[in-house]
Parts: sequence; C-alpha cells; structure tokens
Amino acid sequence: MKISIDAGGTLLKIVYMENDERVFDKVPALEIDDFIEKLNKNHPDADIHITGGKAEYMSRRLNHDVNISIEFDATYIGLKQLMNEQDLHIERFVYLNVGTGTSFHQADADGQKRAGGSGVGGGTLMGLSYLLTGIDDFDEIVSLAKEGNRDEIDLKVHHIYAGDASPIPGDLTASNFGNVKSGDRKIVRHADELQAVIALVAETVSTIGINLADGFETEDIVFIGSTIRNNDVMMDIINRYVSLKGMQPHIIKNGEFSGALGAMYV
Ligand code: ATP
Ligand code: MG
Repeated sequence: MKISIDAGGTLLKIVYMENDERVFDKVPALEIDDFIEKLNKNHPDADIHITGGKAEYMSRRLNHDVNISIEFDATYIGLKQLMNEQDLHIERFVYLNVGTGTSFHQADADGQKRAGGSGVGGGTLMGLSYLLTGIDDFDEIVSLAKEGNRDEIDLKVHHIYAGDASPIPGDLTASNFGNVKSGDRKIVRHADELQAVIALVAETVSTIGINLADGFETEDIVFIGSTIRNNDVMMDIINRYVSLKGMQPHIIKNGEFSGALGAMYV
C-alpha cells in the first residue's frame, strides 16, 4: 500500500492508495504521535510519501524509508491532477492555499511560482472565533456562522457615503469589524461574530487573489485548503468578491488533499 501524507500545521491530510483505489482521510496535527505509532504498527511495509511542515518530524519517528517532497511542488502536482479530474482545463491561473496560513501562487505552462503568503488564514478563523465565542469546533463555527448577520459588525462603503453616490459598490466592506460600537454589543450574537470572522478571512484572501491575478494577467483564481471545505459562508463570499471583479473563482473539490495527492508522485 502507498500512503501519502501532507503534514500541515493544523491537519494531516492522508491519501491511502491500493490497487488504484484512493481513500482520503484527515487527522488533527495534535494527534501526530499517535498516528505515527499507528503507521509503524499497522503498516510496516507501506510505501510512505510525506510533504508539509511536519514531514521531517514524521520521517524522524517513522521506521519506514520515507520519501519527502517540498510542499509547494507536491501541492501543484496534486492540484493539477484534481483540476484534470474535475474537467477544469486552464493553464495560466493563480491559486490560493488557505491552510492555517495562506500561501498564494502563480501557475502557467512552466509550472508554479510562490508569490507570497499571508498570516490570515484558517488559523485566524479558528483563533478569533474561539476568542469571541468560546467555540473551537470548525464544523460548529461554520454552521452557526451561516445563521448570522454581520450588518452590525462590518462597516460597508454605503455607511460611510451615507446616501451619497459612492465610486465603488456600496455593499462592499469598507472595514471588517469597523461597525462595532460599544452600544451595539448587546445585539450582536455569536452567529453574527462568527460570520464576520469568516468574512474577514474570506475577503482578505480574495482581495490578495484578485490583485495577484490582475498582475499576472489572468482571470482565473483557484482556491484550495481545508479552511474552505464545507464552509458555505466562506465560499459565498469568495464567489461574490471574485465575480464582482469580473474574474472567475474556482473552488476545487477535495482541494485540501492536493499536497498529499501530489506527494505520491514526487
Ligand atoms: P499549513 O499548510 O498552513 O501548514 P494545514 O495544511 O494544516 O496548514 P489546512 O488543513 O489546509 O492547513 O487548513 C487548516 C484549517 O482548516 C484550519 O485552520 C481550520 O480553519 C480549517 N479546518 C477544516 N476542518 C477542520 C477540522 N476538522 N479541524 C480543524 N480545523 C479544520
Ligand atoms: Mg497545508
């Protein structure tokens, strides 16, 4: 059996491959030692490939002769494979990996180039959500956020222009959390706070993606990373922001497994 792992800061993404059958799995990075022990005990003969920030750590503790690859190379290979499988045939595009932090890349016929990173990502979503509401479960955060309304929290462009004509759409966010005034705190619910936190992350990474795509002369922006998975609020905002700029957002199904998938072939 081939076991390919993207050992990220928050989650280990795992692809088990046997007889061309592919199984995806995830394990919290906090449980990395238990997972290593399980691999040593239950899969002593597996062909193990690892990428991601915790790849070296895992290889030091595994009994296997591990094949390690660079995260950015592996992710690009896996992403291209998923895009092919999902009939997305574009060559020149930018992509954002919204993981614990966010990493953004340019891709063309010659391969990928990492264009930069931002500390605003899935870790920001988790950390701010917990500080504001005490909720630390990702699924709970995203499902409660769906019921929220961030009107009392975010300051919109039309709030500032107050009825006068604005040079950009009035519905755009002028300042994330900029509408919070002391008197409003009592009417803000946890659901509203969570939605505003997700919006802060979604709008920040979308704006980075849009600017990067603009400079790279492409209209295609591809999004991957566990932060987006089953996260309707995040996906809606990404789709809206990117489309508003006349660009094309692409959210890849199982995109968070790009690194694990690609590591298998490097
Ligand atoms: P990095 O690549 O930055 O080292 P990573 O590879 O671990 O980190 P991802 O797995 O792509 O990052 O994304 C992690 C984010 O996904 C978390 O910060 C959180 O917002 C979100 N997430 C989705 N599902 C879960 C989950 N079950 N547990 C924790 N976080 C989750
Ligand atoms: Mg990652």
